[in-house]
Amino acid sequence: MTKSEELYRKAVELMPAGVSSPVRAIKPYPFYTERAKGCRIYDVDGNEYIDYCLAYGPLILGHAHEEVKRAILEQVEKGWLYGTPVELEVRFAELITELYPGIEMLRFVNTGSEATMAAIRLARGYTGKNGIVKVEGSFHGAHDAVLVKAGSGATTHGVPNSAGVPQEFVKHTYQVPYNDVESLANLLEKNDDIAAMILEPVMGNSSLILPEENYLREVRKVTSENDVLLIFDEVITGFRLSEGGAQKYYGVKPDLTTLGKIAGGGLPVGIYGGRKEIMEMISPLGPVYQAGTFSGNPLTLTAGYTTVRYLVDNKPYRELEEKTRAIVEGIQPELEKLGYSAGHIASMFCIYFGETPENYSQALKLDASKFLQFFSEMLKDGVFLPPSQYETCFVSVAHGDEDIERTVEVARACLRKL
Ligand SMILES: *Cc1c(COP(=O)(O)O)cnc(C)c1O
Repeated sequence: MTKSEELYRKAVELMPAGVSSPVRAIKPYPFYTERAKGCRIYDVDGNEYIDYCLAYGPLILGHAHEEVKRAILEQVEKGWLYGTPVELEVRFAELITELYPGIEMLRFVNTGSEATMAAIRLARGYTGKNGIVKVEGSFHGAHDAVLVKAGSGATTHGVPNSAGVPQEFVKHTYQVPYNDVESLANLLEKNDDIAAMILEPVMGNSSLILPEENYLREVRKVTSENDVLLIFDEVITGFRLSEGGAQKYYGVKPDLTTLGKIAGGGLPVGIYGGRKEIMEMISPLGPVYQAGTFSGNPLTLTAGYTTVRYLVDNKPYRELEEKTRAIVEGIQPELEKLGYSAGHIASMFCIYFGETPENYSQALKLDASKFLQFFSEMLKDGVFLPPSQYETCFVSVAHGDEDIERTVEVARACLRKL
């Protein structure tokens, strides 16, 4: 028995499915990581993998990036939690407001879930309305209001709607299909109690689904016309599509924005921000409450700020995109032969076991079990993809040309084996 299997057997007795987050419950058992560096992750049994999961998005600089590591270690010497404001908070907030057109003022929190929960409460408090619109299959974290048709983790395990959420808690949550402005316009015209629409500008939790030409611009227009706030959940796309996220990439300005993942440089973080007059509703300035013991802690701020600074100073976006395209174009001929497809944007890509989806119901038609076969073959050959058809692959600054070439070779061979 491998050490990973041994650990997992013990883990399932101690934690539900043996894991701390559902997608990690890989069958027959997940590998247990011993260490990671750059684009490589090493397990406790001495195996080495090229990593395209990258902790589900945060590690755009790769694992244990030297600059981020040094900054964290320096901060550790000075203490890692104060419960007071720190200078870096001001500097990081200033940098983010410069980079994100839709953020004039912000709050640091600890996870993306916390950020979307606060943003939704704020939108309701500001508008005095109850309804929120989300897109089918979009994921905004694991809290009650957004746990309906909630994308990856839930979809992979066949429970898109969570038990334990009273109907009363989600009766104000409306759903529209992605890439469908008409459905949105119809809903907003019929219903005048909608506070906000929250969406992932690029869907990254139901495989990878790209917005059609002008979709985001039209969503902006329709929400404005109906006095509905627009929240961009940029927890994945923030600092991923560009240093100013999807809003800069597509030139569409939301009223509120949530950030996370990359913004913490590998430590837990969430950020929500937006127009000043809305953000001034937050306690103690205004009546909308939100607070957190670990919010704005110096360790997270240091890892996040150092990562974002690196991105701003080194502008790796074009290079990242080229590497990503090289992977997709390298695999494409083999995929086409099998009737499969692939999509990519910036440093995100996805191999679809079926046709390229434009919304959640199309994504559900993908052959998720075929994907898992492919995933297992890839893993055996030393490439670690996120373990679900409904996740997105990420490329980092640390992936070199040889890593990319090796990945393409392995992927082609694995596809032929299916
Ligand atoms: C990951 C994710 C979240 C939740 O962030 P956590 O830090 O895991 O709570 C929210 N929205 C989107 C789009 C995400 O990808």
